[in-house]
Amino acid sequence: MFLSIDIGGTSTRIALSKDGKKIEKEVKYDTPKKYDDGIDLLQENIEKLTRHKPKAVSVAVASPIDYEKGTLIKPPNLPNYKGHAIRKELELRLRTKVFLENDGALGGLGEYSQRKKVKVLGYITLSTGVGGVRIVDGRIDYHALPFEPGHQILDPHGRFWPGCGQKGCFEALASGTAFEMTYGVKPEFCEDDRIWEEHAEITSQGLVNVITLWTPEVLVIGGGLTKAGSKFTKPLIKFTKEKLKIYSPPKIEISKMGDENVLLGGLILLSGKNHFGS
Ligand SMILES: [Zn+2]
Repeated sequence: MFLSIDIGGTSTRIALSKDGKKIEKEVKYDTPKKYDDGIDLLQENIEKLTRHKPKAVSVAVASPIDYEKGTLIKPPNLPNYKGHAIRKELELRLRTKVFLENDGALGGLGEYSQRKKVKVLGYITLSTGVGGVRIVDGRIDYHALPFEPGHQILDPHGRFWPGCGQKGCFEALASGTAFEMTYGVKPEFCEDDRIWEEHAEITSQGLVNVITLWTPEVLVIGGGLTKAGSKFTKPLIKFTKEKLKIYSPPKIEISKMGDENVLLGGLILLSGKNHFGS
């Protein structure tokens, strides 16, 4: 039995899988803002879900990870979790091996598993924050530092972004948080097509940069903002294709999996091919 956990800024989800491939049970609850409460509640919910000791556990978090120490370097939406030895703590409590990975990276692994005959896949999630990953031959691509496509700078004179300390990064302009700051309305309540078109235009610049640096055959876009549907995704794909002049654009697809891609990606991580440094 395996567990795939996604600790998000708003909610935490725990998925249970007997064979490590298919998710059988899932629970969801609000993520406590305090680290100690978060760990206690996670253990409590796991014990409610199963009395058996899992073979291995994956934990997705929206943060760059220190893989050696098993800590979160900079979780913008859960600042109280920063620096704690979360992997070690969970291994002690759950008496099993625990793997930490960035949620955007696991989302990409999940998306890759749904596609055949793709060698290089790029994945970008547009959500509270902006993240993503490059997947090559079914593995998270080799990297010396974490992939942080959300913090490429699109406007050096743009909005200051406390999450990274830079100005005008992709996340500061294109995330759900940025959307609300710019337009004064939460994305889930915005029905104005002109606003969505403007937001798509800004977002497309980040996607063009990602395509030119990652050269994917398929770029998959996921995350909460895509729930706005075609009023956002249609101009987003159109602007991206128009702006990219250096070569023909790759396939650009909108995720059909939603947040499930992260949980599925967690199970793929546990299958062993994607541990950092392996
Ligand atoms: Zn940034």
